[in-house]
This record gives sequence, C-alpha cells and structure tokens, in this order.
Amino acid sequence: MIGVFIFKFYLLTRAHKLKTMEEILIKDKQKYLDDCPLYEHAPKLTDKKKCLHCRQIITVGDYKVFRYKDGSEYICCPNAPQCNGSAIDWFEVDEDFDS
Ligand SMILES: [Zn+2]
Repeated sequence: MIGVFIFKFYLLTRAHKLKTMEEILIKDKQKYLDDCPLYEHAPKLTDKKKCLHCRQIITVGDYKVFRYKDGSEYICCPNAPQCNGSAIDWFEVDEDFDS
C-alpha cells in the first residue's frame, strides 16, 4: 500500500515538474488577493471556502501561488500540487455543488 502511495506521489511530483510551474512565496497574502484582477471584492485570509476539486474546506490564507513558465501566476488550492484546483474553484462552504 505504501509503495503505491509513494509511486502516486512520485507521479504527481513528476507531473508538477513537467508543467514547469514553481511555487512562489507571497509576503503579503491579503494584498496579493486585493490586487488580483480575479476579485472585485477579495476574500479575507480567514475566510473558509470549499474546493471543488479536492472537496475539502480550506482557509483562504493557506492558498499557494504558482508561477508558470510563461510568467503567469495562479492562486491555487492549499492542497496543490496534489489538488489542481485554483481560486476560481472555491465555493462558499454552505454551497452544495453535489446536487
Ligand atoms: Zn483543492
């Protein structure tokens, strides 16, 4: 079982590298959200959201930012790179997208 897990992890890390994206550290995470053109009203770092991809409740402030080879930056799920969800995949916690 553990072997399978490690192998899957290896594949994920490999896929991650192949996409040539690198995680960048954001010093002021709230400012980064406020400046992001994605939001008219940026969420707070303490807000809880539900990720459509990994279906976990995440804290907005735990988000990760990845920079792709072309220079574009993406706000990703805190569970990245295992989860490929990004900020647009986050829903309100009480929103039920299963129905
Ligand atoms: Zn996720």
